[in-house]
Amino acid sequence: METGKPQQSLQKNSKESDTTMNANIRRETMVSIGSSSLNTPQKHEKRQKGKKDLSFLFGNLVFNERIQRQRLPITVFRSLQRTIKQGTPLDPTIAETIASTMRDWAIEHGVTHFTHWFQPMTGSTAEKHDCFITPLEGGESLSKFSGLELIRGESDASSFPSGGLRATFEARGYTAWDPTSPAFILRHPNGGTLVIPTIFVSWTGDALDKRTPLRRSNRAIGQQAIRILRLFGNTTATRVDSTLGAEQEYFLVDRRLAALRPDLMVTGRTLFGARPPKGQELDDNYFGSIPERVLAFMTELEQELLMIGVPVKTRHNEAAPGQFEFAPMFEKAIIATDHQMLVMQFLKTVAARHGFTCLLHEKPFAGVNGSGKHNNWSLTTDEGDNLFDPGATPGSNAQFLIFCAAVIRAVHKYGDLLRFSVSSAGNDLRLGGNEAPPAIISIFFGGVLDDIFKEIASGKFTSGVPLDPLDFGLPELPPLARDSGDRNRTSPFAFTGNKFEFRALGSSENPATSTTFLNTIVAESLSYIADRLEKAVADGENFKTAVQNLIVEIVKKHKKILFDGDCYSEDWKKEAVRRKLPNLATTADCLPVLISPASIDLFTRMRVYTETELRSRFEISTENYTTIVGIETLSALEISGTMILQAALKYKKDLQQAATTLIQKSLLEELDDCIDDLVIQHRNVREVYMHRPQNNRTIEAAEYSCHTIRPALEKLRDAVDHLEEIVDDAYWPLPTYTELLFSR
Ligand code: ADP
Ligand code: MG
Repeated sequence: METGKPQQSLQKNSKESDTTMNANIRRETMVSIGSSSLNTPQKHEKRQKGKKDLSFLFGNLVFNERIQRQRLPITVFRSLQRTIKQGTPLDPTIAETIASTMRDWAIEHGVTHFTHWFQPMTGSTAEKHDCFITPLEGGESLSKFSGLELIRGESDASSFPSGGLRATFEARGYTAWDPTSPAFILRHPNGGTLVIPTIFVSWTGDALDKRTPLRRSNRAIGQQAIRILRLFGNTTATRVDSTLGAEQEYFLVDRRLAALRPDLMVTGRTLFGARPPKGQELDDNYFGSIPERVLAFMTELEQELLMIGVPVKTRHNEAAPGQFEFAPMFEKAIIATDHQMLVMQFLKTVAARHGFTCLLHEKPFAGVNGSGKHNNWSLTTDEGDNLFDPGATPGSNAQFLIFCAAVIRAVHKYGDLLRFSVSSAGNDLRLGGNEAPPAIISIFFGGVLDDIFKEIASGKFTSGVPLDPLDFGLPELPPLARDSGDRNRTSPFAFTGNKFEFRALGSSENPATSTTFLNTIVAESLSYIADRLEKAVADGENFKTAVQNLIVEIVKKHKKILFDGDCYSEDWKKEAVRRKLPNLATTADCLPVLISPASIDLFTRMRVYTETELRSRFEISTENYTTIVGIETLSALEISGTMILQAALKYKKDLQQAATTLIQKSLLEELDDCIDDLVIQHRNVREVYMHRPQNNRTIEAAEYSCHTIRPALEKLRDAVDHLEEIVDDAYWPLPTYTELLFSR
């Protein structure tokens, strides 16, 4: 992006005929939608024949514990399970057996290749396939997959973002098998690939991926949580893991219409588009009945995901027309993250089979509800205890309260880092907009828990408030236990019964980053608490009193982060200023937080990122942000210069001929004004873009993109959207919002 200059010029008329052509295609496409759905229900039924039992489907393409037990020699199986469940180092002598067993199992499923699969810092996943077949002399061949090939891969890291890590070090990168996440098979029409989840590191050991820091953060929080559990007399739990259930929102648009929108194809969102007469105002979409073609898509998606072990749970319509949600059952965070990446990949590929384009962008349509991802997060012991389960009497459940206190302290102290962890060019357009949490991070507890923390903050310590069963006036129905907290859909970080729900993530984001940050900041608080309590015990203090005093002290000091009101309101913004809570509205505002002294101290102390790794992530995030804004700029210039302007000029010609009365001629004046505005704004964007800072890895470049380029783009958009409202629909080259949102 650094040297690219906008090529589009308003004088360029070469695409003149394209405009009418596009408008024609657009109209034909609209007529054909519905009449020739790519996947008719009949076709779908045929494919589903013989697949009645879902339990048979689940995980049948995963080299999971069941398959491992069946196929591996018992000693090898036990040794591998110790690594997976207890984190003992992998015994390298068993790798050979595991590799050949995996290979045989995969070949039985029609697999020809294997790949090390990793999560580079691009935000997506990466894979390079190698064939099992190794030719021998004399025309023979062998299916080979060695222990070494399973354990380690070598890959040229230079094509992946390294944020300066490769400037100082060699370009070589290694992928290393992560046995805690099971291998699986990705099928395609001509066979399949054995996928080995791996970490990706440089030869100096710097993490070049998102999984390595996530694993480190999981270890950090596990170690600190165990210290607390021991203080509370738990001698049996041996490890604690973070758990994650990621709800995913997305849009489906007809593939043929999407293909007529260069902005959707290139940037994943619409850069132009006048507001439709009907949006989500009637609230008639949320949880509404799911259109048949969409349901066919969802069913196929779920079956594919079940086979690779993703624990599919719920599906429903979301708030906006054409918007839907998918949620799996929660799992250990590392595995849930792998599965989340697969969910995003499959959403796209399966949608295409059903004639849809799946939009994972945070704000595909201006003025319409955006798409988020909700990180449901908790901690669980290897004995299956959820550490955020309040029990029947949360007020007297000191262990639960101390874990909550750790979260309260962490989010107050490091809310800016949490905010950074969800920042992106796409999410900037969503946070604080329609039905999205604000950029101000606060915690909501709600109900009984809110009362408990208010009481604690005022210095009192409740003796325990048992939760009454819910009374909803229908005694004939079975009693429902009341959740210990109510819901607050406006809060970015809400306690929801026995887990926290971080709702500020963007829909396209890899949840690894925000989970890494959340794990780390809470690990730091747990470490602080463990230090304090261990000292109190060593000093001979009464443990119960020490815990109570510490809970009161922490909650009093950090209560400013608790908010149970409407986070969408203007009042909250003002109140947040009074409380000195940061309001980091854009990515440009967040970026410096990552390399602040507090962040470097935190992440190095918790051994999650080294300072070098943090600086590399700063560079990558900055470059990513400025590059995306750059691509949006070039796309907007091209569309407005070569499609919109031409359509408007053509319509002007017609209007000139048709207008006879004074009033009709005034239409021409309005049109002229709008076209002039388009030309002016187009030139302005070009000008502004040409003068951008050349090094797009600097904070200056990010700020320029945010505060200079994006506002110029907005004005260009206004000019185009205004024209859309007055230009003859037959000439308009882009499918409209109504067409995109309502054609299913
Ligand atoms: P909601 O509260 O949003 O209506 P659910 O209670 O069904 O929805 O849960 C939403 C998500 O939270 C699901 O993916 C679910 O698996 C996940 N979840 C539930 N319990 C936990 C937990 N202990 N840790 C992490 N995620 C969890
Ligand atoms: Mg939710």
